[in-house]
Amino acid sequence: MAKSRPAKAPNPVGLFQHPDCSRHDTGWGHPEHQGRLRAVMGALERALPELHRDVTPHMPAPADTAALELAHAPGHIERIREVCERSVDTGRILRLDPDTPVSPGSWDAALAAAGCGVAAVDAVLDGTCRAAFCVVRPPGHHATRDRAMGFCLFNNIAVAARHALTRPGIDRVLIVDWDVHHGNGTQDIFYEDPSVFFLSMHQHPFYPGTGMADELGRGAGEGTTLNLPMPAGLASERYVEALVDGLDRALARFAPDLTLISAGFDAGVDDPLGGFTLTEADFDTLAHEVVGRTGSSARNRVVSFLEGGYNPDELGRNVVSHLTALRDATA
Ligand code: ZN
Repeated sequence: MAKSRPAKAPNPVGLFQHPDCSRHDTGWGHPEHQGRLRAVMGALERALPELHRDVTPHMPAPADTAALELAHAPGHIERIREVCERSVDTGRILRLDPDTPVSPGSWDAALAAAGCGVAAVDAVLDGTCRAAFCVVRPPGHHATRDRAMGFCLFNNIAVAARHALTRPGIDRVLIVDWDVHHGNGTQDIFYEDPSVFFLSMHQHPFYPGTGMADELGRGAGEGTTLNLPMPAGLASERYVEALVDGLDRALARFAPDLTLISAGFDAGVDDPLGGFTLTEADFDTLAHEVVGRTGSSARNRVVSFLEGGYNPDELGRNVVSHLTALRDATA
């Protein structure tokens, strides 16, 4: 009998990506450079023989303006479009702020990144995929409703959460953010929204300076924001324990229908920007804890988003570890 590749699992983990994400050119001196995705793709290719049966790649359509407007002010979207168009016209890299450059390919990259999140949510809710990971850039969690900052143009995970809430039966979304930086943009967008619980563990004091423990939400959203500011340089189990404890506190008052993860691998031990100490094994544990603890209400439905991670080799290894953990935790 001729040898053939093993058949796909009936509902594999979706790997959502788009070639336009690589066209966002920040310059090689910038930590969020084009080599990050190249390193991730190389690591994923090497892991493919092991992951082939359970992981299916998807290349969805870019987000449209209506999807972006779920989380962003129309004026913000227009401003990004204008600066990106100016970059196309001049052929130059332009800056939205000192940290946040755009290049001629950035508009398409940003729309592709947001589109991956929307499509991944649909695939998981439709049952096409049992979980999903969006390998995208630019990252998103610093982008507020009306401001680009911290390498982020549009808040991919916020757009995806708001899109999920338009679907029947999805009334509550939990966002778990373990990027080493506080996800100030995500917090900003959902600060008064009781349908999205935002849980963030991040280094403090550190960029962007927000994410104190007393920032708990406002108005109808009071109590649906939980920040875990942590010092740099602790033993990695301290970070894992803190996030698991935060998860339990969140889940004591909020039963999510869907879980989203801002997977920032700049919380890794060898990251040049962050001071956290997490290893591949810790990221594996975190994914299992998030899926395991939210599984009973969210029915294992989880969509994860690449945020930070600035040591390309470490990022590649951690992405493979994370994808493997999503596969195993949702099996
Ligand atoms: Zn970060």
